Amino acid sequence: MKCWVNGEWMEAEGGRTTEIRNPATGEVVDTLPRCSAKDTQKAIDAAAAAFPAWSAMTAEERGRILLKAADIVKAKMKELAPWLTKEQGKPIRDAELEINHFLHGLEYYAGLVSKVRGDFVPLAGKNMYGLVMRRSLGVCGAIVPWNFPITLMGNKIGPGLAAGNTFVVKPASTTPLCSIKVIEAMHEAGIPKGVLNIVTGPGREVGEELIQNPQVIRIGFTGETGTGRHVGEVCGRLFKRVSLELGGSDPCIVCDDADLDKAAPMVAIGRFFNCGQACLAVKRLYVFESVYDAFLEKLIGRANRLKLGNGMTEGVQMGPLHTAAQLKEVEEQVEDARRRGGKVVAGGGRPEGPDFAKGYFYKPTVLTDVPADARVATEETFGPILPVWKVKDLEEALTKANNHVYGLGSSIWTRDMTKAAAAAERLEAGNVWVNSLHYGHDEMPFGGVKGSGIGREHGIEALLSYTEPKGVVYTML
Ligand code: NAD
Repeated sequence: MKCWVNGEWMEAEGGRTTEIRNPATGEVVDTLPRCSAKDTQKAIDAAAAAFPAWSAMTAEERGRILLKAADIVKAKMKELAPWLTKEQGKPIRDAELEINHFLHGLEYYAGLVSKVRGDFVPLAGKNMYGLVMRRSLGVCGAIVPWNFPITLMGNKIGPGLAAGNTFVVKPASTTPLCSIKVIEAMHEAGIPKGVLNIVTGPGREVGEELIQNPQVIRIGFTGETGTGRHVGEVCGRLFKRVSLELGGSDPCIVCDDADLDKAAPMVAIGRFFNCGQACLAVKRLYVFESVYDAFLEKLIGRANRLKLGNGMTEGVQMGPLHTAAQLKEVEEQVEDARRRGGKVVAGGGRPEGPDFAKGYFYKPTVLTDVPADARVATEETFGPILPVWKVKDLEEALTKANNHVYGLGSSIWTRDMTKAAAAAERLEAGNVWVNSLHYGHDEMPFGGVKGSGIGREHGIEALLSYTEPKGVVYTML
């Protein structure tokens, strides 16, 4: 495969290439260009040249093209989803869910953009009025991680393209293939050349060029907190608009009045979906002591029943971790918890057998009796590990839930809406889910506080963040 720049395929300067491997089998899925800063500049130039015409179209015209693009991608679902499974590792059913989530976002912004109005503001001066217009920004960079390559690209290009901006997408180095195929398909809808470009290559070359290049006005970044800090510093220095969607360690509280039969499967999905590699996964669980044993039993049952395997195999519910480095990290975090006195009550190792020999598989794991200074409590766990703590009441649960550097999502399971409202008020997080799965709804603003970043994706907030308000004062003579 090749990059897609200015409406055509592009190789890397000097013919440099890189291999993409399947994390379930170790096999090479495809080879593609390993681009440099100079290659990235070509894409930025194409995006800059395309901006005047794209931003001059009416919001409705752009919306119509994006709706058509969504229809075309939908029609190619069976061809596109296997690319995502083979490069990322997730089960094919989840790859389709991810592409559908991307399409829902595209359709949402295609419709929303023509409904956004400016403001007409009466001013203090006599016969003076203010008009606040919303302008497109220019060339934007979308920097995307490997865990949800398609939806996280969509969270940026959906609102950004609808708002009249042009894009250079930089996918993670290990998951570019499905993104390229989706972008190629979107062009069949008539997206003009240069409006949407994708360049593959290392973060320190392609990503660095995007954040440093003065022609790029806004960066939408999702990734690790450390990388995000660097991106934020560079953008701050250059006065670039930026959103940073970073790591998380979402707490979930299960109260004594919760519907345990509804909560247990949702908590299990919330933790083990995508092999635990989700920013908004349930990563710390606090259960009231009176229901602790009953809930734990249900949770362990769920964890032990999950079917692991190659995501292309029918019926598989959990694929491998994405890389050898991810697997090593998960093994070390569990080992650290064990050493400090934590107990493994489900999973706790790699599955055995020929189906698992060449992939980065790890069993769904539940830990109890974990001390508060263990790595699984203090760090982000990006794998299928769930530590569970017993708490006596809501006060203790909230104090422990908030005692973390991250503040992305959080949840509570209770039938008592007074308790739910107290938790919603006090949980230090950008999002709170009451009796539901941690999920990024397109209609709701999504993002974090504390070490989880700044800015919001989804909702009207994301669309507005890809525009600039411009105030014009009129005096009526
Ligand atoms: P990462 O920070 O390693 O990489 C993210 C992207 O940044 C990649 O495309 C990478 O190539 C690029 N990059 C690396 N160095 C760069 C540089 N110097 N300049 C510009 N770009 C550079 O993150 P990852 O390991 O791919 O993703 C996992 C992390 O992402 C986890 O911490 C997870 O919680 C977080 N995440 C957050 C959200 C959210 O919405 N908050 C969603 C998904 C994942």
